[in-house]
Amino acid sequence: MSTTVRPPCASPEVDPDVFFPDSPEQYALARSLCEGCPLRAACLAEARETGTTDGVWGGVLLERGVVVAVKRRPGRPRKVAVAA
Ligand code: SF4
Repeated sequence: MSTTVRPPCASPEVDPDVFFPDSPEQYALARSLCEGCPLRAACLAEARETGTTDGVWGGVLLERGVVVAVKRRPGRPRKVAVAA
């Protein structure tokens, strides 16, 4: 008997758009879904091998082929630092 692993992103209850996030909140949701996924390492490895440039794969966000730590909101970055 074989068992098939069904990753969280394959659930019909999950909006696939969260894996192509437009906001930090969507990225956080995608990361939380990937966190317990047993396919995490293979998912990221396949994305890298196939030249995938964007989206959340294995819990990691790729933008234009580069791993980014923080999803920024769209728009121009501030020119001056803002106190936290
Ligand atoms: S690690 Fe990959 S396969 Fe697993 S939930 Fe995230 S995107 Fe889906």
